[in-house]
Amino acid sequence: MAPTADIIIIGAGISGLAAGCYAQMNGYRSIIFEASDRPGGLCSGRSHQGYTFDGGIHYIFGTGEGQPFYELWRELGAFEGLEFVNQTEFMQIRGPQGNVLRVHSQPDQLEAHLLELAPEDAKLIEGFCKGVRKFKEFDLSMLQQKPKSLMTAADWARLGKQVLPFMGVLGKWSQLSLRDLAGQAKNPFLRSAMPYMFAWPDVPVMVGMSLLAYLDNGNAGFPVGGAIAFARAIEQRYLELGGEIRYSAPVAQVLVEDDRAAGIRLDNQEEYRADRMISACDGRRTIFDLLKGEYINRRIEKLYDGHLPLHSQFQVLLGVDMDLSQQPPWVTHLLEEPVAIAGHPHSEIGVKHYGFDPSLAPPGKSLVSLMLTTHYRDWQSHDDTASRDAEILIDRMEAFYPGLRNAIECMSITTPLSLERTTGNWQGASSGWLLTKNTLPLMIKGVPKRLPGLEHFYMVSQWTEPGGSLPIVALSGRNMIYEICREDGRAFATALPE
Ligand SMILES: Cc1cc2nc3c(=O)[nH]c(=O)nc-3n(C[C@H](O)[C@H](O)[C@H](O)COP(=O)(O)OP(=O)(O)OC[C@H]3O[C@@H](n4cnc5c(N)ncnc54)[C@H](O)[C@@H]3O)c2cc1C
Repeated sequence: MAPTADIIIIGAGISGLAAGCYAQMNGYRSIIFEASDRPGGLCSGRSHQGYTFDGGIHYIFGTGEGQPFYELWRELGAFEGLEFVNQTEFMQIRGPQGNVLRVHSQPDQLEAHLLELAPEDAKLIEGFCKGVRKFKEFDLSMLQQKPKSLMTAADWARLGKQVLPFMGVLGKWSQLSLRDLAGQAKNPFLRSAMPYMFAWPDVPVMVGMSLLAYLDNGNAGFPVGGAIAFARAIEQRYLELGGEIRYSAPVAQVLVEDDRAAGIRLDNQEEYRADRMISACDGRRTIFDLLKGEYINRRIEKLYDGHLPLHSQFQVLLGVDMDLSQQPPWVTHLLEEPVAIAGHPHSEIGVKHYGFDPSLAPPGKSLVSLMLTTHYRDWQSHDDTASRDAEILIDRMEAFYPGLRNAIECMSITTPLSLERTTGNWQGASSGWLLTKNTLPLMIKGVPKRLPGLEHFYMVSQWTEPGGSLPIVALSGRNMIYEICREDGRAFATALPE
């Protein structure tokens, strides 16, 4: 059978689309096979009765002109026809006694607010806000500018020089989680609310600081039209560059001849051949299912043995006939009485409405997301209770949003199991391996992007870049094409949309 393309890419999430765009920019004929009927993977959405049920992204680093990651998105056409909303308050955390912690992105405002809330914790608060100010200058993209395997001594020296002024803050704040920091607070409300400032308590403090810093720099916008509009913009760029996408085309197997990847077989038994294969989907499924676990070593087995942390959530999206646009967009409610979801108690529920993007709901109505962090294992014995659990959450939220229940027009429920089914991501993980103080070194070191003994096969996605996130997975796709160009003795080229 004649080759279908130079490169076959499995998955049209953001990493796969990015790999496809850069492949086309560099003169490779590529084709993407995507299991779903639309692009974006975790960064996607669906329409229901005039609402856009968004996959749930909150911000995208790189939306501020001239700032880190901006050029990447420009090359990928992500700004074509899209507007971005910048928010100055990331979230509010409300305690059972009515106390409110407002997570302002502006460090002076945040500092003044926190000092008013907990004057006895002045030292902790001032140290935290000082860190946010410092991270405003930090270029998070610098580590990913080039594939690490191709970095020369001069590249490392340049990187070292760039990082040097930040060594103090990096050393101090990468080894402390938000939960650890909150544990040092004397004020009881600050101690209970602080872990939820960035939605997951085990995040290293430096990650939260970077987020506030980028929000304050106007470099972490939300795309009007939501995640699917963002994914569609990149899909459009790929198609304009001459790429081809086959939707509803799940790959069942990677075909191998003489330890060299030679093509793919779809679920429907169709086969396609190419010189190279890039997997841009779940790492575990790729290695252990599509390749039947035949190309592994001890390091790979250990990565996927389940000991590393993952983040997954229970999400109930509601289309409601209520105008919530005057309410704060994202509130985490700390509950006096825990709520049992999938048989486990939870003491906090996040509620987000998208009033800042009126395109996501009909006029005068709102798209609302109820969210809580949950474990995959809890759902293995509770998959059939999702609807009942959604009702429990809605009942609890009725106290904070009177009239919510009766205003519901449509609903969509996501559990870790359902996300695993729809996107293929192991245990419904939202970002590959969770970024914590313990997994940070893994992220910096990187995860293998080739498999031992298998030629012409490459891996990108949130599973090769622990911690995931949209710009990092897009760079993962970009850098893989950079490596392939190097293998072929080609200079890596980039281009901007005309
Ligand atoms: C609720 C939520 C909120 C988030 N918020 C943010 C945020 O605010 N900012 C941010 O930067 N990041 C955020 N993230 C993380 C970010 O969305 C992901 O890290 C990123 O989208 C992962 O992209 P990917 O290409 O690596 O993988 P995926 O998006 O998982 O794409 C993989 C694609 O491969 C397809 N596929 C799987 N198996 C097969 C197969 N066998 N054959 C063919 N196709 C297959 C899937 O259908 C999917 O389309 C969030 C994630 C979630 C879930």
